[in-house]
Amino acid sequence: MFTDLHSIDTLVSLAKRRGFIFQSSEIYGGLNGCWDYGPLGVELLRNIKEAWWKAMTYRDDVEGLDASILMHARVWEASGHVENFTDPMVDCRGCKARYRLDVLFDSYNEKRKRKIAEGLAAMRPGVLVGGRDTTAELAEAVADALSEDPSVFEALNEKELLPCPACGRTGSFTIPRKFNLMFKTFIGPVEDASAVVYLRPETAQGIFVNFANVAQTMRQKVPFGIAQIGKAFRNEINTKNFLYRTREFEQMEMQFFVEPGTDMEWFEKWKEERMRWFLDLGMRQGKLRFHPHPPEKLAHYARAAVDIEYEFPFGWGEIEGIHNRTDYDLSRHMEYSGKSLEYFDDEKKEKYVPYVIETSAGASRSLMAFLVDAYAEEQLDNETRTVLRFHPRLAPYKAAVLPLVNRDGMEDIGRHLYRSLQKELPVFYDDSGSIGRRYRRQDEIGTPFAITIDSQTLQDETVTVRDRDTMQQIRIAMDACSRYLHDELKM
Ligand code: ATP
Repeated sequence: MFTDLHSIDTLVSLAKRRGFIFQSSEIYGGLNGCWDYGPLGVELLRNIKEAWWKAMTYRDDVEGLDASILMHARVWEASGHVENFTDPMVDCRGCKARYRLDVLFDSYNEKRKRKIAEGLAAMRPGVLVGGRDTTAELAEAVADALSEDPSVFEALNEKELLPCPACGRTGSFTIPRKFNLMFKTFIGPVEDASAVVYLRPETAQGIFVNFANVAQTMRQKVPFGIAQIGKAFRNEINTKNFLYRTREFEQMEMQFFVEPGTDMEWFEKWKEERMRWFLDLGMRQGKLRFHPHPPEKLAHYARAAVDIEYEFPFGWGEIEGIHNRTDYDLSRHMEYSGKSLEYFDDEKKEKYVPYVIETSAGASRSLMAFLVDAYAEEQLDNETRTVLRFHPRLAPYKAAVLPLVNRDGMEDIGRHLYRSLQKELPVFYDDSGSIGRRYRRQDEIGTPFAITIDSQTLQDETVTVRDRDTMQQIRIAMDACSRYLHDELKM
């Protein structure tokens, strides 16, 4: 019987202990919101990105791209990020703690949330309209009111209804300020306004500005898409939950350009296709769901949006967004650059600005979801076995070669087998410690197979192959190992 991961802390410590994820700049005390991928983490991340790249670009109607991180500052004016990519935040005057408004509200307990809701209802009758009975619904209404009208926050603060979670003071918050999440820097030696550039907060804009380049050079006809994997940076006010919300992360984005009128059909297609991708890589169906955005919550340019959510130990969270962005992006870039990004349909003899269906996944956030989903504990007779049940395509090592004991030439045979398998697959060699401990170590890093050289190998050149999930062992000829692994791993 396997049990799931209960706490992210357990995963953080396993990830560190086994070389998946380290805190950035750890020897200097760490850098908040930044993480380093260790030897196993980088393999896992590469495998996820590779699986995405193959699924998304090894097809006729999607092309790949790798645009630069620094882009012309006007790009971010056109995209709306300079003006709108902000979070409202407040500071505690007493202890200097800084909060995003919604995060602050979220951090209160039920009793406090109700108190705030009552205070709000007394002040603003009509804000909390009927049907908001559960605390969660009240909380949502308050959060909406807070983010839409800063004076609501000020009034609640003055009434001393909002204690600072860090120091407990009431009435101590500053008025909410808009905080732009883009990291700013300068290009060239002069640090003045004309030299300002931003670290991109999303990879999508690199795709939009290259729409015409790709369409022309690759002779692509609408409908077609452009896919890109790359780093994005957001100066998040509150980073939390390990890799879930970080300041530097990687995105896997694809913008699919379609004829207006066919957009909702493509939206539905991509929605299903993207969910399938996670399932095909072994994620459990019950842990995934669609979360459609209600019409009143859509960005002003969006026609439809749905998140793919995963159930983390701290609750459901978005891992990918699928959006119908209409012709907003290309139209805005036409307006700001003065260049035409219209598409001429040869067959229909018509010109139009294509609509865009976007699929936007976090590589790092997906990696965390894959880690959480793979994590399992199994109670054996006198110990708990921890296993990462990765899909073989994602596992950092595909097999481990383990001589049972260091005698009678078993290590030599083991090393020889290891060297020959290493030419084809990432494999691991380990000849130190008890065999039981070596198996556990491989279970903990998610290696699907362990190949053991034992005394029978010396007689008949067979080895045992142990399956990570079932712990069943079979015996096969040593020279059949490569074939066996390829078949079983479906690589
Ligand atoms: P959230 O509401 O969680 O901040 P978002 O709606 O702003 O996310 P998008 O702008 O749609 O996210 O970005 C697409 C994807 O990029 C998200 O689904 C997520 O996987 C990833 N992502 C966004 N922000 C972060 C972050 N700070 N850290 C890690 N991944 C992120």
